[in-house]
Order: sequence, then structure tokens, then C-alpha cells
Amino acid sequence: MAWRCSAATNAGMVAALQQEGLIKTPEVADVMRRVDRAFFVRNRAEAYLDQPLSIGYGVTISAPHMHAIMLELVCDSVLHHQQLDRGHRQPLRLLDVGSGSGYMTAAFAALCEAVGHGGPAPMFDVVGVEHAPELLRQSEKVLTEHFPDWMREQRVRLLNGDGRKPRSIAGAGIGPADAFDVIHVGATAPQAVVPEYLRLLRNGGTLVIPVGQPSEVQALRVFSKKCAGEVSIRHVCDVQFVPLTSLDTQLGRNASNSNV
Ligand code: SAH
Repeated sequence: MAWRCSAATNAGMVAALQQEGLIKTPEVADVMRRVDRAFFVRNRAEAYLDQPLSIGYGVTISAPHMHAIMLELVCDSVLHHQQLDRGHRQPLRLLDVGSGSGYMTAAFAALCEAVGHGGPAPMFDVVGVEHAPELLRQSEKVLTEHFPDWMREQRVRLLNGDGRKPRSIAGAGIGPADAFDVIHVGATAPQAVVPEYLRLLRNGGTLVIPVGQPSEVQALRVFSKKCAGEVSIRHVCDVQFVPLTSLDTQLGRNASNSNV
């Protein structure tokens, strides 16, 4: 499935992802059509290649097929939320750790808006957390340019934080802890941080996270939390992501930054 979905346009790329069965949900297709990958890459000519692309600072924007897989994995928690909470004032809350280019953060916001398809969109609070200040600035600029309402109304926020320490993120202005419907970690993490992220997840919420050492093939896992004691785990596929690491280590590294 990898690498097969390159196209000349964003719409063509989304169509290819649908054809390959990677996008199954119409709302995910809408999101990926709206959040144009070209906004987030350095060289627009490469924007619709189905491969990770360097965004500088030792890291990459993930390949489109990986964005599609991630969005498919979390979309039920978002689409389901509206049905459960109709009439309630609780906003949808999504956390994107290692937000990098800002693509997934923007896609999450678009997914929240897709829930209200044809009617008013639900309230939402999408938080991207990133440790590289330059990437934060870069992604903030892109989102402000292309999605100014989200930024002005603070429905999307980009924060500096260390994804290795979920508790410190919780203390850094993300709002009430254990309050996310979706947590996506865009860098590979040790198994030890999983319980900490599960604590930040609402009942009914989904955590998607690559788990494993950067030097090995990693496992993309989905944790679905029914309630505090009841979490189901699913292995999705093998992946290779850049690690959740220190900024120094990341910036000192050049070659081995594959992020499929
Ligand atoms: N989903 C992003 C993936 C970017 S790559 C995209 O498609 O653009 C992973 C990101 O995790 C990088 O931006 C990197 O800077 C960030 N990262 C690595 N270690 C981190 C840490 N300890 N805390 C926060 N972000 C981290």
C-alpha cells in the first residue's frame, strides 16, 4: 500500500488513497481534500508524492498514506462524539503530539468541522504540541494563512512541549487533563509513556501511537478507552517514525530521519 498514491494534484492524491482502500470514510476524504498537503511542504512540486518529505530540523512530514491511516483510525471517536454528546456543551478535544508541519493538527480541526456536515460544527479544541520552536512558528504561520478562523478563535492551538512527558504537557495550558477524545502521537515512543497518555484520554477516546525504538521497526497501536480500567489494544501495522526525543538529539541527527 505504501508509496502507491502519488498524484499531480491534491484531489488526485486523495482519489488514489480512496482507490487503494486507505481512505474509507467520506469525511476523511473531505478533510484531506480541504487540508492541501502543499500548504505544509517546502517544495510544492513534491507535495503530492506519497512519501515523507523533509520539513527541516531533522524531521519529515509523514507520507499521505500514513496521514490517511491515522485519520481513519481516529475518525470514529470524532464522528461518534457528536452522537453521544448532542445537546451537550462539551467540546471535542484532540491532541496532536509532535505536530511538526501542522498537517495533522489542521486535519483534526477539519475533521471536527466535518462532523457538523450540513449543520453547525461542534465546538472543538485541537492542540498541537511540538518541541522545535522553528517548526512551531512555521506551522503557526501556515495555519494562520490558510485557516485564520481556527487560529483567531483559538479552536486550534500550537504549544511548545515535550511529548515524552505527557504530565508536563497537561500542566502547560492544554486545559483539563484526561479530557481528550483523540490523542495522536506522530513520533515513536517507548511503551512506558502509553499509560500516561491513556490517563489524558476521555472514556470512549482513542490513542494512536507508534511504539518502539527508533532503530527498530515499530508497531502502530490503537488504544481504545472504554473506561479507566478497560482499554483495548490493536496492532495496526509496522511503521518507521522519527523518535520522541530531545531537541538536541534531533538537531544533531541528519540522515536517519525516516518517517513513513
Ligand atoms: N505528524 C507530523 C509528524 C512530524 S515528525 C507531520 O506529518 O508533519 C515528528 C515530530 O515530532 C517532529 O516535528 C519532531 O520535532 C517532534 N518531536 C520529536 N520529539 C519530540 C518531543 N520530545 N516533544 C515534542 N515533539 C517532538
